[in-house]
Amino acid sequence: MSTNPLLHFSGLPQFNEIKPEHVSPAIDRLISEGRALVEQLATSQEEPTWENYALKLEDHSEKLGRAWSQIGHMNAVVNSPALREAYNDNLQKLTDFGSDLSQDERLYEKFKAIQTGSEFSKLTVTQQTIINHEVRDFKLGGAELKADEKVRFKAILEQLSKLSSKFEENIMDNTNDFTHNVETVEELAGLPDDAIEAAADAAKATGKSGYQFSLHFPSYLPVMQYAENRTLRETLYRAYSTRASELSKPEWNNTDLISNILKLKKEEANMLGFNNFAELSLATKMADTPAQVIAFLDTLAQRAKPYAERDIQELTAYAKTLGLDNMQAWDVSFVSEKLRQDKYAFSDQEVKQYFPEEKVLAGLFKVTETIFGVSVQKAETPLWHEDAAFYVIKDKANQPIAYFYLDLYARQNKRGGAWMDTCITRRKTANGIALPVAFLTCNFSAPVGNKPALFTHDEVTTMFHEFGHGLHHMLTQVDEYGVSGISGVEWDAVELPSQFMENFCWEWEVLRIMTSHVDTGEPLPRALFDKMIAAKNFQAGMQMVRQIEFSLFDMRLHGDFDPNGNLTALDIIEQVRDEVAVLRPPKWNRFPNSFSHIFAGGYAAGYYSYKWAEVLSADAYSLFEELGVLSEEAGSRFKSEVLAKGGSRPAMESFVAFRGREPSMDALLRHSGMGD
Ligand SMILES: [Zn+2]
Repeated sequence: MSTNPLLHFSGLPQFNEIKPEHVSPAIDRLISEGRALVEQLATSQEEPTWENYALKLEDHSEKLGRAWSQIGHMNAVVNSPALREAYNDNLQKLTDFGSDLSQDERLYEKFKAIQTGSEFSKLTVTQQTIINHEVRDFKLGGAELKADEKVRFKAILEQLSKLSSKFEENIMDNTNDFTHNVETVEELAGLPDDAIEAAADAAKATGKSGYQFSLHFPSYLPVMQYAENRTLRETLYRAYSTRASELSKPEWNNTDLISNILKLKKEEANMLGFNNFAELSLATKMADTPAQVIAFLDTLAQRAKPYAERDIQELTAYAKTLGLDNMQAWDVSFVSEKLRQDKYAFSDQEVKQYFPEEKVLAGLFKVTETIFGVSVQKAETPLWHEDAAFYVIKDKANQPIAYFYLDLYARQNKRGGAWMDTCITRRKTANGIALPVAFLTCNFSAPVGNKPALFTHDEVTTMFHEFGHGLHHMLTQVDEYGVSGISGVEWDAVELPSQFMENFCWEWEVLRIMTSHVDTGEPLPRALFDKMIAAKNFQAGMQMVRQIEFSLFDMRLHGDFDPNGNLTALDIIEQVRDEVAVLRPPKWNRFPNSFSHIFAGGYAAGYYSYKWAEVLSADAYSLFEELGVLSEEAGSRFKSEVLAKGGSRPAMESFVAFRGREPSMDALLRHSGMGD
């Protein structure tokens, strides 16, 4: 038996044993097993069936997916030069293998034979869906291309995978590299104590005196929101918003990567018979055409823009009262925070004192337990870092049904942001059901001094969001790998369960059990909650318009934009801003250069999904508003019709089965204070 921990497929991953030197041998072996299997299946004379053909491929991709998810996860949360190198080398090999597989006509023919054969009608709906997806994906993977075209197509995919990876690395390197030191505490007026303490610790850790700030969010954001020192805000804002551009270090400049990525994506789409990448992207999504998406965004923009204009007028007028006659981009968060405090008389900082980590987790688990009829408990397993933790989800009979890892705090060499990723996917095997396992990763502030970690309400909402993705993965009842959990779910429906979960962070019934003041132990006072609710839709118009701006930029860029023409991506975002934006960032802002969602994160021509799914999630939540916030009836219907079904049927069918009708935009607009 192999001593390589990445090749152990029974039980949970051995994160304490995985080393960079295990990566290549494991991936090499799995790829060579995969190639042998493909040859054996492709040349077999037997009539292809689910059992003798499709299932064998499923088995192999499960193994490869499982090993690679452990590597990808460690690369993201405990990055090191050796691991990064191993990751990149093997990413290349995997891309090669994946594109060989997806272009193998022999495999394609066998899937088509199953789809049109006599066995098909006897397969389960889940198995049929997998076969249908395979045939579709083979077409999109280039299976119908001519031999010489296939060579070019493969080269495009390889190149894209490299460029995306480089795009993300440039941002990470630039973010890690930047530090800004301040000598005296007087220059930090307005900053909360914990932010000052963290900055002092950061300076000490690098052997410096004074205070050190970085572009990592827990360091950056408090400065933007609270620092009276305008120059300090400007310095950090400028560094943050020019990351990975020609205005930063040349070796991290993403500008050429952007145009190369766009050119290659257009070529890829054209080869498959689409006019542009946007059309290709929508071929596997819930939305049908780019025009439909743009019309959807335009409708929302029309509804939101008057509210956004009102927001910006209020903000500009308020800035004047603070002596900021000419409000700049680096003043916006600062003025907003002051305006919010003035209007609603509370600060994020005040609210944060009521959200110690332990209480928040207990609250999240309580909601989950009540509506979905499960229990969540801490458990033991090897981990990659002392900050990480592990949990088990059990059903009513106290039997484990899923597990998840939680890694909450920001640290060096950990990718920014918050996300859920799959570790093991639920499926039926010869040895019984393999239980699903999820990774939940955040970048919240770590505990400072001897106090527990305290989360802002925003961070709490983020945690509920990621946990919603986790539940989609973990509460699935699907038996087959390809459409189990979030697998096979349309991109623009993936955010339904996550955004749905956020709603609970705004319910008194939930907050009164989820809060406890770090010093006094008192729950959140009702009066403060009422202010939070009043403040909930503060600047909702501005925020919605901003999301629409990013979504339209993404759709245009991958739709009608000509990457060989004279316009640049920066020109396109300016055009979009002419139409919808109420707030213009400075000319030197290089937002596209760090827009990794669409250039490195798989959201290309898919960023609109956030708003699209928000319509679904708000409308789904409205059933809980009707039946009761912690309604078990609504919860069990959501579990069985949406979460349990995963990708085994179209998201629209799941939605209608749950809600009893098609989705409507009304609940989202009402929740955002734009109901009239
Ligand atoms: Zn999400």
